[in-house]
Amino acid sequence: MDYISTRGSAPTLNFKQATLTGLAEDGGLYIPQLWPSLSLDEIRKLRNLDYPTLAVEIIHLFTGDCVDKSTLKTLSDRAYGNFHHDAIAPLKQLDSNLFFLELFHGPTLAFKDFALQLLGQLFDHFLQQDNAKCTIIGATSGDTGSAAIEGVRGLSAVELFMLHPKGRVSEVQRRQMTTIADANIHNLAVAGTFDDCQSMVKAMFNDSDFRKKHSLSAVNSINWARIAAQVVYYFWAALSLGAPDRSVSFSVPTGNFGNILAAYIAKKIGLPIDRLIIGSNRNDILTRFFETGSMEQTGVHPTLTPSMDIQISSNFERYLFELFGRDHGELNRCMTQFSQKGRFDIDSTTLKKARLDFTAHRFNDDQINQEIQRVYRSTGEIIDPHSVIGVAAANIEETSTSPIIAVGTAHPAKFPDAVKNAIGFEVPLPDYLGDLLEKEEKMVDVENDVEKVKAIVG
Ligand SMILES: *Cc1c(COP(=O)(O)O)cnc(C)c1O
Repeated sequence: MDYISTRGSAPTLNFKQATLTGLAEDGGLYIPQLWPSLSLDEIRKLRNLDYPTLAVEIIHLFTGDCVDKSTLKTLSDRAYGNFHHDAIAPLKQLDSNLFFLELFHGPTLAFKDFALQLLGQLFDHFLQQDNAKCTIIGATSGDTGSAAIEGVRGLSAVELFMLHPKGRVSEVQRRQMTTIADANIHNLAVAGTFDDCQSMVKAMFNDSDFRKKHSLSAVNSINWARIAAQVVYYFWAALSLGAPDRSVSFSVPTGNFGNILAAYIAKKIGLPIDRLIIGSNRNDILTRFFETGSMEQTGVHPTLTPSMDIQISSNFERYLFELFGRDHGELNRCMTQFSQKGRFDIDSTTLKKARLDFTAHRFNDDQINQEIQRVYRSTGEIIDPHSVIGVAAANIEETSTSPIIAVGTAHPAKFPDAVKNAIGFEVPLPDYLGDLLEKEEKMVDVENDVEKVKAIVG
């Protein structure tokens, strides 16, 4: 299987190269040249597989010859063996037609573990094949950092340096990163903001000598392998509700658009999906786009859902490319305008087409707080502020035709303050994280100076 860049002027790569490369050199995102497809009969045969085996069947559609199924099974078993629920992704019923897919039983209690646990295994496998090593450098404001660290800890081919703004991540988030003792994990507490961390990472990637010397790599949310790994749980949930002989809808709390993009791709390759519902917080660039046809940056407001506090939904580019009928020129025009003016517009015919693919709803902090209360009172379930946005969006759209699956992206114990505010008591961390607050921390303080950071990397 070949991968092309959405922007049309980077080399065509295979799955292995696309995984190790991340962002295309023309600034675009890699996407399969042709979508694989599954017939209804082929989908029926996927029923009753356990999660790691289903993951092999789905992910192999995207790997081509780069990985054989038995190797992929080993990697998948390792990746999903670190989850703390036998079902990996349990599906709960909340209402007659509303279900809740719990994607937070991985090591860091958020759905990002589904992608990053597997990505770590793929990186290690591909690098060992080439007898190579790489250094992953990243910046985090909280969640992604710990999921990346858990994904690569202990792997022999990978060193990881994670920058976080000192004193600006929650204690649980920091400890999820700094209490990992493996020697290949390095936490840097930067005297600066998240944006400072991000710009130093960019500066290191732009220094081509440094980049080559250390074989720098990134595991950010635009990495294609992360999207491929996420397609699996959409099949998993739909199959357990009768797919492909019954169609389902999904409602997804959305920020960078990586999670819901995977649902769109599941549909594209043959899974009967009725509606795809986007839930946004106050940072509603996507919801505004589906209302007006214009994509416009307005600045980020902090909310109860920090993992969705984004200015730009970076994975949306892959959907736009499809929406434009794979027209690189049209895509480049929009992306150039967006980076120069912070805005682009699509015409009304294209907007109509987009509205057939997605609907979108926004919720402010008050609504999030009320929805956590309402769901707790009516079902007894305690739902985190991100996930509850998916539940609220599903409720707006609920009809009797097809079941809606709201996607749960984080464990409620990860956001104790917001949950306590809504229901009056705190949710304890699961037992397996019970000693998090006592464990020894490992991190290095560093000034807000890229040369100092480089010196630590080596
Ligand atoms: C990352 C994240 C999201 C947003 O997912 P995207 O793929 O960026 O749309 C939502 N909820 C939680 C808890 C997250 O960590």
